[in-house]
Amino acid sequence: MKPYDQLTAHLRRLHTLETVGELLGWDEQVNLPAGAAGRRAEQLAAMAEVTHAAASDSRVGGWLGELEKQKQTDAAASAVVRQARRDYDRATRLPAEFVKEKATAQSEGFHVWAKARANNDFASYIPVLERHIDLARREAGFMGQAGAVYDYQLDLFDPGMTEAWVEQLFGPLRRELVPFAREVVAATKNHPAPKLGAWPVAAQEAFLREVTAKIGFDYQRGRIDVSLHPFCSGTGVDVRMTTRFKPDMPLSALFGSIHETGHGLYEQGMADERRGTALGMAAGMAVHESQSRLWENQVGRSRGFWRYFEPRVRALSPQTLEGLSSDDLFRAVNQVRLSPIRVEADEVTYNLHVILRFDLERRLFAGKLAVKDLPEAWRAGAKEIIGLDVPSDKEGVLQDVHWSAGMFGYFPSYTIGNMMASQLWYAALAERPALEEDFAKGEFGWLLSWLRSKVHSEGRKQYGLALIQQVTGKPLTPQPLLRYLRERYGALYLQ
Ligand code: ZN
Repeated sequence: MKPYDQLTAHLRRLHTLETVGELLGWDEQVNLPAGAAGRRAEQLAAMAEVTHAAASDSRVGGWLGELEKQKQTDAAASAVVRQARRDYDRATRLPAEFVKEKATAQSEGFHVWAKARANNDFASYIPVLERHIDLARREAGFMGQAGAVYDYQLDLFDPGMTEAWVEQLFGPLRRELVPFAREVVAATKNHPAPKLGAWPVAAQEAFLREVTAKIGFDYQRGRIDVSLHPFCSGTGVDVRMTTRFKPDMPLSALFGSIHETGHGLYEQGMADERRGTALGMAAGMAVHESQSRLWENQVGRSRGFWRYFEPRVRALSPQTLEGLSSDDLFRAVNQVRLSPIRVEADEVTYNLHVILRFDLERRLFAGKLAVKDLPEAWRAGAKEIIGLDVPSDKEGVLQDVHWSAGMFGYFPSYTIGNMMASQLWYAALAERPALEEDFAKGEFGWLLSWLRSKVHSEGRKQYGLALIQQVTGKPLTPQPLLRYLRERYGALYLQ
């Protein structure tokens, strides 16, 4: 066998091992009896060990060495080699002791964070954050990135992303979005959101299964279950999504499910025979998020979508929309309401929450902000950027889980994903202006095929920013997102 074939066969086996670990993780969150938690931790640790051994197999280094000597003329093969090199270096350059120390810090950090949040006690969380920042610096050092620790962190979630890039995207977004959001939020006083009637969980579930199947999720190659925190895992022929039901917030399960379906469609859209290689993996977190946001927001909150699905809600759960008009329903799904909590934020203010976190993260890594001063900086930033007074650290700096696991640099993916979703949306619309009329007829296939051929099937042949430029013909900018927000929310609240 040639080195390239040996490498891809190995990557496929490695991917198989990873999916076993992932499945154990899925099962832990969906099915696991409480008494089996200890055994599951052992199973996961054993799988992690086997997987790491395969990922750091010295033969991979040999194959890569040979392939890198040859000049790759094929763009797809170069992408496979580039990604394999990236993963191999990460698997071999970090000392085992360090990996163990980080894993311990992550699991301990989670428990300290959960307790600190419950008790509104930031002081007890300080050592966790300081430890993770130190670990991030050391990790970047092992990877030869000691001079650019925050860039290294961003690149972990979004290959190719740098602080300078994020700043270039977030700067103009912030300048225009801050005043626009202020205006919309002020106008919501004159537009109280209509309240939906009761929507029993069984009817919610029947509806969301219908919606997710209609927009294209293939239930022969995936499933949806209930978990405490919604997520989507798996790839190709086996995609596992989860949702959660809140009887008093019916739209939250629905839109959460459409969101996860967007992730799931992306995974189902990647060729199974390419699994484990760059050609069968997502371009990055931001592109992944663009897929979930596009279905959740541009599609799921559109007039066309609800023209088709409103009668279905009325049929499945008549009391839910009793006394409400189509306009009321449209307002309810596009409600704007200022919240200190990011995951409860609406589309207009959501990105301001992310800008705040990026601002704080970069100052932390630049040594311009001490961990102990975070709560104060958070409050000041929330006031300035989002325009709200943070009632407590619990609803401020302590609200997100990410930093407790050292996941600095993750947040920007959410907003970059929103920008990508809008830019993709207008590109699709330019090719097929009748998209919303399709939706009103219950037809979502054109958009899905378009995404399949332009985005999903591309895998990680190139990184996110380059992919978006290829698909839309323009570099990524915040303008399409601003245009989309103005069109939808300006029309609803400012006219
Ligand atoms: Zn998501």
